[in-house]
Amino acid sequence: MSAMPRISPRVSGIRPSPASILRRRARELRAAGRDIIELSSGNLDFPTPDHVIAAAHAAALRGETLYTDVDGTPELKQAVRNALLRDHHLTYAEGEIVICNGSTQALFNALLATLSAGEEVIVPAPYWAPYLDQTRLAGGTPVIVPCPQNNGFKLRPDDLQAAITPRSRWLIINNLINPSGAIYSPEELSPIASVLLRHPDIWVLADGLYEHIAFNGYCAPTLAEIEPRLKPRTLTISGVAKAYAMMGWRIGYAAGPVELIREMTKIQSQTTSCASSISQAAAVAALNGPQDLLRERVAVLRAKRDLFAEILNGCAGLSCEPPEGTFYLLVACAAVIGKHSPDGRKIQTDGDFTTYLLEHADVAVFPGEDFGLSPYFRVSFANPQSTIEEAGRRLRRACEALQ
Ligand code: PMP
Repeated sequence: MSAMPRISPRVSGIRPSPASILRRRARELRAAGRDIIELSSGNLDFPTPDHVIAAAHAAALRGETLYTDVDGTPELKQAVRNALLRDHHLTYAEGEIVICNGSTQALFNALLATLSAGEEVIVPAPYWAPYLDQTRLAGGTPVIVPCPQNNGFKLRPDDLQAAITPRSRWLIINNLINPSGAIYSPEELSPIASVLLRHPDIWVLADGLYEHIAFNGYCAPTLAEIEPRLKPRTLTISGVAKAYAMMGWRIGYAAGPVELIREMTKIQSQTTSCASSISQAAAVAALNGPQDLLRERVAVLRAKRDLFAEILNGCAGLSCEPPEGTFYLLVACAAVIGKHSPDGRKIQTDGDFTTYLLEHADVAVFPGEDFGLSPYFRVSFANPQSTIEEAGRRLRRACEALQ
């Protein structure tokens, strides 16, 4: 008798997320006694603000421990509407909002609700890897559009136009961008919007999860505010994970046309019922509460960005430019490809290089092949300064040891 049920073809082609594989390997090495520095995670090293934790505690004590409405509590939907108005000048009705278990679920519900076999989702690369596998799980086909460094890691309108086919259903546009930290300005979004206006059947998934971690001090713009004519076919997605250091609370949201929100809510009702009631109360406090902590934290991250960029640019064969936002540096490593590690192994890809860094230098970083741009790797600078400095020493030694 087989020890495994037969796995559906829908899932058998899907890999576990690269981030989870890296996390597991780093954990294994740690369990074996190694002092691994993890620069690969999407966690911030700030605590969730005290007033947010207090609001969650108070909600639990008040008995807000029941299932909520599937699409979220009225208080949180209102707080999301206020935030969209405050940050993007966008007005949404209550029925145009759904609260999810992280923006991950919002994205997946949208794709699952809308894609049929063979339909295409246009994904600019470098990308957040789940855009591809979520599309595949929902039966669609990702169409990757390379956005190299000399385009500022951003989608050019002509490249978007060239990727469009009669099967195109969605464009996913992430602003600001994980992993590059690049920001589309309103002037850069406008010509993208003009292409989309010529193709009325294409919808837009605008993922703004990192929108507040921008070093120019402004929330990154989203497509529906730049081109109101696209709003009726745009799903604006964000969440509290990065802005308020609430990664584990799992609250994200989507705002869009009521018919789409209704279908997404239907999926949610049959899968997770609702997001955590306590986390929703916390998210209300985060969105409605004081926002100045955000600016202070962004300033701290900016200083760490500059420190780490300088360190990395001092490593043989590596180069990076300080990004406009996020807490990641995208590091070009073309000059190490073709070299050999001290044990004689040839570094042929950025994946080989990041494996070398993990196994021989005890530093976990994220390879470019997992976000669709090689040869690069991504490091997080949301770490204590001493960790960044120690990681820098290890990376410098590892680069110097290559022959
Ligand atoms: N979008 C992007 C670009 C991300 O990087 C992530 C996670 N790091 C998400 C969405 C999902 O985040 P969450 O589910 O925590 O809201």
